Amino acid sequence: MHDFSFKNNHFNLLAQKKSTFNSFEMAKYIFVTGGVTSSLGKGIIAASLAKLIQERGYKVSIQKFDPYINIDPGTLNPYEHGECYVTNDGAETDLDLGHYERFLNIPTSQANNVTTGRIYQYVIEKEREGAYLGKTVQVIPHITDEIKRRMMLLSQSNEYDIIITEIGGTVGDIESLPYIESIRQLQWEMGEENCIIVHLTLVPYLKAAKELKTKPTQHSVKLMSENGLSPDIIVCRAEHPLNADIKRKIALFCNVRPQAVVEAIDAETIYDVPLMMMKEELDVICLEKLGLPIGDKPKLIYWNDFLNKLKNPKTVVKIGLVGKYVELQDAYKSILESFIHSGAVNECRVEIQNIHSEKITAENVESYLKGLDGVLVAPGFGNRGIEGKIIATQYVRENKIPFLGICLGMQCSVIEFARNVLHLEAANSTEMDLHTPNPVVDIMEDQKNVVKMGGTMRLGAYECQLDTHSQSFGIYNNTIISERHRHRWEFNNKYLDTFEKAGMKAVGKNPQTGLVEIMEIENHPFFIGVQFHPELKSTVEHPQPLFVHFIKAAIEYKKNKE
Ligand code: GLN
Repeated sequence: MHDFSFKNNHFNLLAQKKSTFNSFEMAKYIFVTGGVTSSLGKGIIAASLAKLIQERGYKVSIQKFDPYINIDPGTLNPYEHGECYVTNDGAETDLDLGHYERFLNIPTSQANNVTTGRIYQYVIEKEREGAYLGKTVQVIPHITDEIKRRMMLLSQSNEYDIIITEIGGTVGDIESLPYIESIRQLQWEMGEENCIIVHLTLVPYLKAAKELKTKPTQHSVKLMSENGLSPDIIVCRAEHPLNADIKRKIALFCNVRPQAVVEAIDAETIYDVPLMMMKEELDVICLEKLGLPIGDKPKLIYWNDFLNKLKNPKTVVKIGLVGKYVELQDAYKSILESFIHSGAVNECRVEIQNIHSEKITAENVESYLKGLDGVLVAPGFGNRGIEGKIIATQYVRENKIPFLGICLGMQCSVIEFARNVLHLEAANSTEMDLHTPNPVVDIMEDQKNVVKMGGTMRLGAYECQLDTHSQSFGIYNNTIISERHRHRWEFNNKYLDTFEKAGMKAVGKNPQTGLVEIMEIENHPFFIGVQFHPELKSTVEHPQPLFVHFIKAAIEYKKNKE
């Protein structure tokens, strides 16, 4: 019985939408698929397109569907999947959502990222409840119906004019098939004027032949058409510009107009991509296909100003990034992007020096950190590399080098202070040493009985109240701030008095629970450890204040050195 009512609801919903589409009251859809290889930058293309459409006056949101079986990327190792991006509502999501927020300056939520695992989990739970009693539960229609329902969720609030939906993976993968089929059905149901497809492919350059090759693109589009989909626009990643002949060839064999073949050449920075896409009129082509007014040309005033500052820095600082995943840049994506934003406002090029925490010892720490103007100790989990982080923290505290410690980085600063200032030599976090005599960082009470690993940390945005006498208050210029979290351990408040008397102060606390959110050290130019993740809220338009002031402090530190 349930499958029928569900289906009816779904189609009723679409029918309602259809009738209102003409007056443009309901969201229209742009799907972004990828072909030929992964890592072509679908997320950046989707975010750039969204930015341009937003600048033309539309309300736009982006969502991503990932074809893997994990319920979310929260349990994935950063080596596997890069950073796990946490939203305000506490969803652990794909790092592309970070790009969406950084470009659009609007928050995303759980609804913006869905995986195959989540789709199957929902359908299987319904099956166990008896929702499909008597029916065989199948990929089509049950999985595809659930995919479509999720794809439509963002449009139900009537908040958005256009929803861009990125499909993870590459067309032709077995696991992508249900998504391709769902898009086919949605396009059929909504009408092609309300639902279009942008396909991103690779046009490789063969050095020996001195030629750009279109065949992989043709094959990728052919794969789509075998599944009943034809792209409306083809965006071609290439190392060299596409001439008119190549564009015409792709257009002819892929059945699109030549204007709908858009080149996306390798960019100096991801923040150039919206401008490149504007030049190629990707936004105009999409809006025309959707039958929508194109509005005024995007001015991108803030964006251009940011790019101008980014490309013409007046000064440069060297910041050490101490972490255990430094060989994989995606693991610290939001931190690196925050440095780009905060560097630009300060008209300063931030040169990142990656330092593997496992390699740092008391003997060699100086050789790693000596010439730096600031050090960020990164978030992380588990024992590996922890002692290196603690040694690095001691060095920057004692040498008064600007320090920003994030989450585990803040916890390291607490352990370091306990060991070297409070002389609690065996102090530790119980994450690293369950039997430490001085658990200065301890597991949160409500985490003690947690047995399942997925989605069970303290996640998402929480308020933090700042001490008005602190440096952080001066930075945020506010008493109540809200930042995002992802952790199980916390500062152990039993030690608070001892720490504060010795000069390490808890200047930010959760107003409801008293959980310590920010630690600062007196008599240091900039020593701030935060339990939250400030990097998750930095956008081009609103660079995160702690990062901005950390760079300011690094500039100052460098000046004083000279
Ligand atoms: N492992 C620490 C905790 O769970 C820190 C987490 C993090 O750095 N995100 O509390």
